[in-house]
Amino acid sequence: MRRPRIRPVFDDLPAYLPSRPVRSATGEFHPLAANESPREPLSDILAAVHGAAGTVNRYPDFHGTDLTAQLARTHGVAEDQVALGAGSIALVQMLFQAVAEPQAEVVHAWRTFELYPVLADLAGVRSVRVPLVAERHDLPAMARHVGDRTRLVLLCNPNNPTGTLLDAEELRAFVDRIPEDCLVAVDEAYFEYVRDPAARSAIALVADHPNLVVLRTFSKAYGLAGLRIGYLIGSPYLVAQLRKACLPYSLSSVAQAAASAALHHRKELFARADDLVAERTRVRGALRADGWDVPHSEANFVWLRLGAASTAFGEWCAARGVAVRTFPEEGLRVSVGSPEDNDAFLAAAAGWRRKVRAPVGDHSRPVPDRPAASGDPAP
Ligand SMILES: *Cc1c(COP(=O)(O)O)cnc(C)c1O
Repeated sequence: MRRPRIRPVFDDLPAYLPSRPVRSATGEFHPLAANESPREPLSDILAAVHGAAGTVNRYPDFHGTDLTAQLARTHGVAEDQVALGAGSIALVQMLFQAVAEPQAEVVHAWRTFELYPVLADLAGVRSVRVPLVAERHDLPAMARHVGDRTRLVLLCNPNNPTGTLLDAEELRAFVDRIPEDCLVAVDEAYFEYVRDPAARSAIALVADHPNLVVLRTFSKAYGLAGLRIGYLIGSPYLVAQLRKACLPYSLSSVAQAAASAALHHRKELFARADDLVAERTRVRGALRADGWDVPHSEANFVWLRLGAASTAFGEWCAARGVAVRTFPEEGLRVSVGSPEDNDAFLAAAAGWRRKVRAPVGDHSRPVPDRPAASGDPAP
């Protein structure tokens, strides 16, 4: 029997499986796999959600006019420089649709956000993966891989899953090197957690780089992952073109209202981000004191490159009710969550260290300690 004909690239696509909820024998559950905000929505944001719920018999505002204006004011750009998307992932998909001519290529780091190559494959864009060096983007190598077919360069800053940051200088020098007819997208999903004084948002570079767009999301520090809303800042030309690729009405009225309320409460939400950064410092400090090699993170997660032991450690955590993100044979990304969730993870990690220190074959090898880049600055 013949099956309906589907593009062969679909056969190789991974079915994106978010980490399964795990519960320990005692029913404990600590969700540290998806980099979500551990805090419940502010009451004013819930009120905005309830308010919008009463209008869901109507289509949402197609253009998200109010939210767009608010974001333009927030970032000091014109309204025609802001595009909205149903999550910043939807905006990445729009970018791929915009550049997906036959033979088109995207250059991105590897490892980085695992959805980039998936969305590239879906759009028929070939992804060129440039390996990280010391857990950071290798910008010189990435620039060398930009060729005639490159239509898009994607940077994730700070990088998911390693948490490492590109500073203002390297970012500007890189964008300066990329030909004007090639798009550069900087995904700043975690930028609200950045505390390195040498960092600067790529939004500052948009004015004199018409080929640059910057992606932001309400899913992380703004705590609206469940509502699917993000935005992009770029030149009026690119924004006008990208808006055409937005699935009509994909931004629900509830999401628009919640995002608008969240922007009005940036102060409280950013204070929560400060708390999270303090926890990040605590978690990394505790891990390092116990001999783990943990790169300095500017995001709301830490990265443990455990290589062959990754899957076993991921399962070890799961058995203790701690859900982490495992990249088999590579490493684990552990979100910084509530203090209680972080304590549960640190207890699991300490138990693992005691186990691997015990003389049982290969596992007895201690994790080598590389010198740290720099300590977490105080929040
Ligand atoms: C979490 C995350 C996002 C956010 O995606 P949304 O679709 O806005 O939820 C975007 N980029 C990266 C690298 C992320 O880790």
